[in-house]
Amino acid sequence: MADTHQNYVGGEWVTASTGETVDVVNPANPTEVVTTYQESSAADAADAVDAAADAADAWGDTPAPQRGDVLREVGDILADRKEELTELLTDEEGKTHAEAGGEVQRAIDIFHYYAGKTRDMGGDVKSPSGSNTNLYTVDEPVGVVSLITPWNYPIAIPAWKMAPALAAGNAVVLKPASVAPGPAHAIVEALDEAGITDGAVNLVTGPGSEVGTEFATNDRVDAVSFTGSSQVGNMVYDQATDDQKRVQMEMGGKNPTLVMDSADVEDAADIVAGGAFGVTGQACTATSRAIVHEDVYDEFVDAIVERAADIDIGPGDEYEMGPQVTESELEGTLEYIDIAADEGAALAAGGERPEGGRFEDGFYVEPTVFTDVERDMRIAQEEVFGPVLAVIPVADYEEALDVCNDVEYGLAASIVSNDHSEINRFKRDVEAGVVKINEATTGLELHVPFGGFKNSSSETWREQGDAGLDFYTISKTVYENY
Ligand code: NAD
Repeated sequence: MADTHQNYVGGEWVTASTGETVDVVNPANPTEVVTTYQESSAADAADAVDAAADAADAWGDTPAPQRGDVLREVGDILADRKEELTELLTDEEGKTHAEAGGEVQRAIDIFHYYAGKTRDMGGDVKSPSGSNTNLYTVDEPVGVVSLITPWNYPIAIPAWKMAPALAAGNAVVLKPASVAPGPAHAIVEALDEAGITDGAVNLVTGPGSEVGTEFATNDRVDAVSFTGSSQVGNMVYDQATDDQKRVQMEMGGKNPTLVMDSADVEDAADIVAGGAFGVTGQACTATSRAIVHEDVYDEFVDAIVERAADIDIGPGDEYEMGPQVTESELEGTLEYIDIAADEGAALAAGGERPEGGRFEDGFYVEPTVFTDVERDMRIAQEEVFGPVLAVIPVADYEEALDVCNDVEYGLAASIVSNDHSEINRFKRDVEAGVVKINEATTGLELHVPFGGFKNSSSETWREQGDAGLDFYTISKTVYENY
């Protein structure tokens, strides 16, 4: 029998006022219920905001290094639970054990990183123009912050929002995606165990339309940090900015890798395959377009088709590529495969839902490659969020860059080239927040800023690293004459 998890409000584990729960099933075996969560209402979310507002001063007044001690202990607790959380992540979300273990480690590292940062916080002292004066800034917490997170990195994303928010002294309300809330729940359990001030962190599970909307609009919320689809993010942006809340929106992508004629084509195929098919293509930074110079096009297509065909699909505890997270995500991918074929793209690898044996009932799709894709086809413009790659031929660097930037998104982009001038022009001209040279579009370091351009991001605040703290602090400038 699966465990039933509760909400965490004001330092207590509580059931939802609705009396309803929702099951999370294993995407590799949907008849298995992994865990059960509260199906909460807007009223439950409002209670959590009240608890956070009541606790904000106490947590904000706690000396920052003491807040850091709590975060450090959270990192230690997660490290002790790493194996169990890796399995939970695979069972709820479907990614492989190797991918899940890396993600759990990322959450541990994030808590330790921001724990260390708490000793460096506070503000800056500047040279005043007059005598007998002090001139300095004081960084304060913003207040109550709502964190709304997606299912695809169900522990790393809650961690990279919660750790800086709490380090900076804010009170937090968290709504993880209903599809895989377990790892975020585990972070809150660790915060509880580490003795965080009651009400400084609150977790409510339930539908976005109820819990998410309340978190985005409640008067007592000062800031909203959202990660998810551009469609929902843009709506939350409008709702939250309506009464001047501070907002941070991290949304979709249509990330390209340019493969130029100077590239080593085998290396390029490895790079693109890793970016396109890793985590079953369910990364906001996943490579979904390979924009390939015509001189190496045929060679690249052969190499990438070979990579796609070689990937062993199956349950994430044993195989190289796991299932998609839900039936509806799988259906979305299969629909895009049909759309691409109808538009005239050539199916060169995959394209099917594998059946029988270990695939029975699981939400699997083959790693898929479309070639001869034209830049304005939907498969070249819209986020698929599955292991589907569109290969687009181009005549030269100028055309490659033009195709690269000709989408509504601008999250991550990479180039595979050995031409120094081309690489430097790409760094300057590409419209993306993450720029990779001879690397996949996926894979991020935790101590440098992360965010996108255009419809990938609200472009106001970056996440991660030092920049990740900016969103969660508000600064006063003090002029003091003695
Ligand atoms: P989603 O937009 O469906 O949901 C994200 C979160 O918003 C969930 O918690 C959901 O319950 C909540 N939500 C849904 N409706 C809401 C509403 N009306 N009001 C408030 N909240 C609401 O996204 P998803 O399917 O969970 O995640 C996949 C998407 O996330 C992809 O588009 C991917 O590119 C994006 N993503 C972006 C980044 C990034 O950093 N840019 C990182 C990971 C994922």
